[in-house]
Amino acid sequence: MLLEQLVKKAEQPPEYDWDSYYRWQFSQLAGREVTGFNFWLCKKCLSVNTVYLPARYGKCQSCGLLHLPEDMNKSKTGATP
Ligand SMILES: [Zn+2]
Repeated sequence: MLLEQLVKKAEQPPEYDWDSYYRWQFSQLAGREVTGFNFWLCKKCLSVNTVYLPARYGKCQSCGLLHLPEDMNKSKTGATP
């Protein structure tokens, strides 16, 4: 019974270390090393998109609107010029 639970648990992603898990998963999806990720809201169609960092730009999955990383990183640093 206990062994079954351990095997089942091993197949699942870590319960709490979501940051590492997503970084790993996004690296698999992007096919390259990903240092982080961010979300941004499309101003045109209001879709929430994921971007893998480092990135030159993000592209909306729904309407194809381009989004610049400078805008995406703004909320993280909290610095306003
Ligand atoms: Zn859009």
